[in-house]
Amino acid sequence: MIEFDDVSFRDLEIPHLKIPEGVCAVFGPNGSGKSTFLKLLSGMELPEKGSILIDGSVPRKTESGYLSEFPDKNILFERVADEIASPLKFRHTDCSKTNEIVNRVVEKLGITHLYNKNIKKLSGGEKVLVELATAIVADPDLLILDEPDSHLDPFTAGEIFGIITELEITHVVFCTQNMERAGEIAGYAVYMEDGRVAASGTPASVFEELKGTCFYPENFPAG
Ligand code: ATP
Ligand code: MG
Repeated sequence: MIEFDDVSFRDLEIPHLKIPEGVCAVFGPNGSGKSTFLKLLSGMELPEKGSILIDGSVPRKTESGYLSEFPDKNILFERVADEIASPLKFRHTDCSKTNEIVNRVVEKLGITHLYNKNIKKLSGGEKVLVELATAIVADPDLLILDEPDSHLDPFTAGEIFGIITELEITHVVFCTQNMERAGEIAGYAVYMEDGRVAASGTPASVFEELKGTCFYPENFPAG
């Protein structure tokens, strides 16, 4: 269980929120606080007030897998294979095991052809896939994905949503603007507005609360 209790940080106020184990989708307009919420959850930012507990422990950034909204930002190495292996090296995994685990992850994400490439020379979507591989390689208990589908073509985005559901990770929290697809794969949803959690619960119950607003999926122009 993820628990927010009386949390304040910048313009974000979350008096009380409980997210059960499983896949949780975070929705909301631009600037509503989704990325800030995810950074608090990852331990990259600390609340100014209140507490956040993940299965009873405070978030630690070294223990969660995190895919940034801006995938260039946290890159440590130039070569794709070195970047993906970096969380394992920090955990002192032995070398032969590291190669085996990295190979398995790049195969899963369909990016074996990028293995020896320079990350700086990849396309936006390719960088997302490399950072996603880096986020899951060390098998974290908490995986945080900030708009994992934002640079991806529709086919690859679909694949990624499929992979998210197959990961055996205790907590996966991700935000996206693709509410309909996210609603299909998430067991829990959080809808943010203006730094507040305006609705939370099953995706169906959250969509029900949004009925009549421009955020209700059926009202989307493409829908
Ligand atoms: P988007 O959909 O555009 O990614 P978001 O819901 O992720 O938006 P956040 O990035 O969490 O929104 O930003 C929420 C608010 O916090 C915004 O008003 C933003 O200007 C502000 N904010 C974000 N980062 C910082 C920062 N480093 N310092 C001060 N304010 C910030
Ligand atoms: Mg954001």
